[in-house]
Amino acid sequence: MAFESLTERLQQAMGKLRKKGKVTEADVKEMMREIRLALLEADVNLQVVKEFTKSVRERAVGTEVLESLSPAQQIVKIVNEELTKTLGEETVGITKSPKIPTVIMMVGLQGAGKTTFAGKLANYLKKNENARPLMIAGDVYRPAAIDQLKVLGQQLDVPVFEMGTEVSPVEIVRQGMELAREKKNDYVLIDTAGRLHIDEVLMTELKEIKEIAEPNEILLVVDAMTGQDAVNVADSFNQQLGITGVVITKLDGDTRGGAALSIRQVTGAPIKFTGTGEKLTDLEVFHPDRMASRILG
Ligand code: GDP
Repeated sequence: MAFESLTERLQQAMGKLRKKGKVTEADVKEMMREIRLALLEADVNLQVVKEFTKSVRERAVGTEVLESLSPAQQIVKIVNEELTKTLGEETVGITKSPKIPTVIMMVGLQGAGKTTFAGKLANYLKKNENARPLMIAGDVYRPAAIDQLKVLGQQLDVPVFEMGTEVSPVEIVRQGMELAREKKNDYVLIDTAGRLHIDEVLMTELKEIKEIAEPNEILLVVDAMTGQDAVNVADSFNQQLGITGVVITKLDGDTRGGAALSIRQVTGAPIKFTGTGEKLTDLEVFHPDRMASRILG
């Protein structure tokens, strides 16, 4: 599972203080050194590591810890709170449009899990809100993506609008949006194409789709297993397109966790969901506090 070695290292670093009745500044300094190393080894962005350790250190050498009767416990609490802050502090759900449909556009590199996430989200909205989403198959460069979305649609009993691979994605989205308005779908989920690397053609196309669809959400789907790359990808999509949220997939794998821990701070965009497997139900709403507690073990 994700974060395993990070959890172990953080527990070791903080555990040493448990044996001490009184904690000194030198003890805190030594612990911070270990926490810093643990985060760097987990592939957390350097700037994020610096800010995090600075905040923890400032609080940990203050009276709230050094004069406390249970300093070790106090430190665990501080690390937990600061980790929660790094992860985004609050749970942020989907931003809805005041009038239907709420339009959600999925973007990201190929293989990140966009199409799978579109299916998971449709399932989630149906189950939790009794919603009637329409999915639009806009990934025309990977023909299998259209079939994949259609299969998901059939499984979920959710309509999928597609026009094959010969029509431009912008036109597909335009017609798909018309159909959604006509059928009064409350959500439109747009699956877009990804590439192996970010390129200008991809970005131009996504900008055009954004203009046509006027999405309430542009969710960037990133693969947790790609570590710092995921953070760079997020940064660049955000600058070009202005993302409203991030979905981190494949957290069921043995990722070191750096992407999940860095993305919020680097992009400012909140993590909204995580993918924890290949099945349609393997989706979790992201709660920063719960994730922090999970990382700390
Ligand atoms: P796309 O190219 O971005 O549309 O990516 P796909 O949705 O086709 O996903 C790529 C691969 O990742 C597929 O084999 C999915 O089953 C798999 N996948 C997607 N999300 C997850 C996840 O959360 N966990 C795991 N283990 N696999 C996932």
